[in-house]
Amino acid sequence: MEAEARARLTAELDPDQLEAVCARARALCVLAGAGSGKTRVLTRRVAWLSGVEGIAAERILAVSFTNEAVAEMRERLGELLGAEAAADVECATFHASAWRLCVRPYRRYFPRAVTVIYSADDSLAVGRRAAAAAGASIGAREALRRIGLAKARLMTPAELEESGGLDAQAAAVWRRYRAELRAAAALDFEDLIAAAVWLLEEHAEVREAVRGRFAAVLVDEFQDASPAQRRLVELVAAAGSLTVVGDDDQQLYGWRGGDAAALLEFAASSRRVVLGRNYRSAEAIVWAAARLIAHNPDRPAKALRAQRDGGRVEVRRFADHAAEAAGAAAWAAERLAAAGGESGGELCVLARTGRYLQRLEEALLAAGVEYVVSGRRRLGEYAEVRDVVALLAGARYPYHREALRRAAARVRGLGPRTLEAVFERADGAGVAPGVLLEEPRRLSGLRDRERAAAAELGRRVAAVRARAAGGLGGAVGEAIRRSGWAAELAEGEEGEEAERRRERLAALAALAARLERGGESDLEGLLARLALGGDGEARAAEVMTLSTVHAAKGREWERVWLGGAVEGELPHRRAREGGAAALAAERSVAYVAMTRARAELVISAPERVGGREMRPSRFLGEAGLSSW
Ligand code: ATP
Ligand code: MG
Repeated sequence: MEAEARARLTAELDPDQLEAVCARARALCVLAGAGSGKTRVLTRRVAWLSGVEGIAAERILAVSFTNEAVAEMRERLGELLGAEAAADVECATFHASAWRLCVRPYRRYFPRAVTVIYSADDSLAVGRRAAAAAGASIGAREALRRIGLAKARLMTPAELEESGGLDAQAAAVWRRYRAELRAAAALDFEDLIAAAVWLLEEHAEVREAVRGRFAAVLVDEFQDASPAQRRLVELVAAAGSLTVVGDDDQQLYGWRGGDAAALLEFAASSRRVVLGRNYRSAEAIVWAAARLIAHNPDRPAKALRAQRDGGRVEVRRFADHAAEAAGAAAWAAERLAAAGGESGGELCVLARTGRYLQRLEEALLAAGVEYVVSGRRRLGEYAEVRDVVALLAGARYPYHREALRRAAARVRGLGPRTLEAVFERADGAGVAPGVLLEEPRRLSGLRDRERAAAAELGRRVAAVRARAAGGLGGAVGEAIRRSGWAAELAEGEEGEEAERRRERLAALAALAARLERGGESDLEGLLARLALGGDGEARAAEVMTLSTVHAAKGREWERVWLGGAVEGELPHRRAREGGAAALAAERSVAYVAMTRARAELVISAPERVGGREMRPSRFLGEAGLSSW
C-alpha cells in the first residue's frame, strides 16, 4: 500500500519537485515562477505526508489566498487522496482558517462572547458614522483602507496615530469604529486575523490546543501574505512543520499589506527548493511573460524554461471597446465551434478590473456564449440577499446593529430615528437591542406608531429564529418571506433583474440546505460562510470563465484572452501616483494574467474606451509584443 502510494505520488515530478514533495524539513520554502508546479508540489506533499509519512489528514492545514485558489487546491487534493480523505484536510483561506480554528471555537475569550463577522458593507456603514463623528478630514473609504493596512501589520490605533498626517485622522476614525464593533460583539474581515493572533499569543491554552492539532501547515501563494497572516501561520505551525510556496513576481495584494520580501526572508532561513521549469505554458507565452517581468526592479533573476514548444501570443487592436468585446465573443464562439472543438472549460477571458470585465461580458451575453464569472461579486453582496441575511443575522445576534438597521429599512414606518431611540434604550437597560424589539412593552417613550413598527421588526426576527430551530433551510425561507422579497418577486415583477434576484435567493436557500445536510445546524455557520466567501457556486468545468486577474491567480486555461491592454487600465490609472513600486505591482498583474494560458494568449487593446482615446499598454512593448 505504501509502496503503491510512493510510486503514485512521485510520478511525473522533476528532481527538484520530488525533493520538495518528500523533504523532511521543519521549515521548507519552494520559490519559483509561474506554472512551475508549486501548487502541484504543495498538494502532492499533503498527500505524501498523509499517505506515506502517516500523518492523519485532519492534522494537516493547507492555506491559500483566495477562495478560487482554495477551490483549485481542494480539487487537486480530491484527485490525489480520494474525496473522503481530502475532505478531512483542513483546507481554507487565511480568513476562514482564523475563523474556523481560532475565533469560533474560542469565542468565550472575547468580550460578550458572541462574535459576529461584519461584512464589507457593514464596515463601510460603521466607518461612515465613525468618520463623521470624528470630524475626520478623510473619507470613510480612505480611512478604512488605512485602518485595514494597519491591521494587516498588527498595529494598534496608537501606533497608527504616530504616523501622523492622514494616518492620525484614520486612527481617530478607528477608535470610534472599534468602539461600535465592540458594542455589537463584531469583528470585521481584517480583525479576524488579528483576533486569532491575539488569542494564540495571549492564551496559552488556546495556543496549545490549536498547535497540538496540526502536525503540518502548508501555505500556497505566500508572497501575498501580510505580516498578520504570517504571524498566524507561524503560531499555528510552531509544533509541526511549515511549508511555504510562492513567487515573488506574482504579488498582487501589496496594497493590502502583502509583502513578497518576507517570502525571500523565509527562504533564507529554511530549506529552500527552487523550481526552474514551466510546465504550463508553451514557449512563446513563457518567453513573452519572462521578458515583461524582467522589467521589474529589485528581483532576483529567475530562469524559467518552457517545457512545451510552440504556443501563440497575439495582440489584437480594435477601434473601441465594443468592437473589442465583440471580438472576444467571436473568438470564444469560434474556438468552441471548431471541428473537434474545445470545451468551454478550456477558455478564459480576463480583465484587470471588474468594471472592464463587465464591458466584455455584455458582448458574450449577446453572442449567447455560456460562461461563469469568477471574482466579481459574492452572493452575499447583492441587495436582496443582504436584506434576507440581515434578518438571519438579527435572529442569531441580538447585538448586530447593522443587521437590524438593514432589516428595519424594509419595515414601513420604522425610520432610522426610531431605531436609534431603540438602541439608546437598549444601552440604558443594558440589554441587546434585539431583545427590546421583541418586547415592545419595554419601549417606553415612543409614539404608538413607532412602537408598532419596532414591534413588527421584532416579530420578523423572532419568526426567523423560531424557524431556525428546525433547520437552516426553513430559516432562510422564512427570512425571504418576512423580508418582503417573496411577495415582491411574486407580484409579477418581470424582466431579467427580477429573474436574477430569484436565482440568487434560490442559491442562498440551496447553500443553506447544503450546509444543513453537511451537519451545520447553527445560523452562524451560514452567516460566516457568506461573509468569508467560497459560498460554493459549483465550479463549472464545461463552461468558459470570465475573471478578473486577481481571481484567476493560481488557475490555468488552454486559451486566454486578456482584454483592455491600454494605459489607464493595465497599468491601472491609480498606479500613476504610486511611482515605480506601483508600476511594478501592475506589471506583476500583467505577468499573472499572461501566465494563465497554456497554448494560446490573445491580448486586446481598443483605441477608445467610453469615447476616450487610449494608448496601448507599455507592457506590450516591454514583453516584446510590438505589433503596431
Ligand atoms: P502558479 O504560479 O500560477 O500558481 P504553479 O507554480 O503553482 O503556478 P502548477 O499550477 O502547480 O504551477 O502547475 C502548472 C501546470 O503544470 C499544471 O497543469 C501542472 O499539473 C503541470 N505540471 C507541473 N509539474 C509537472 C510535471 N513535473 N510534469 C507534468 N506536468 C506538470
Ligand atoms: Mg500555484
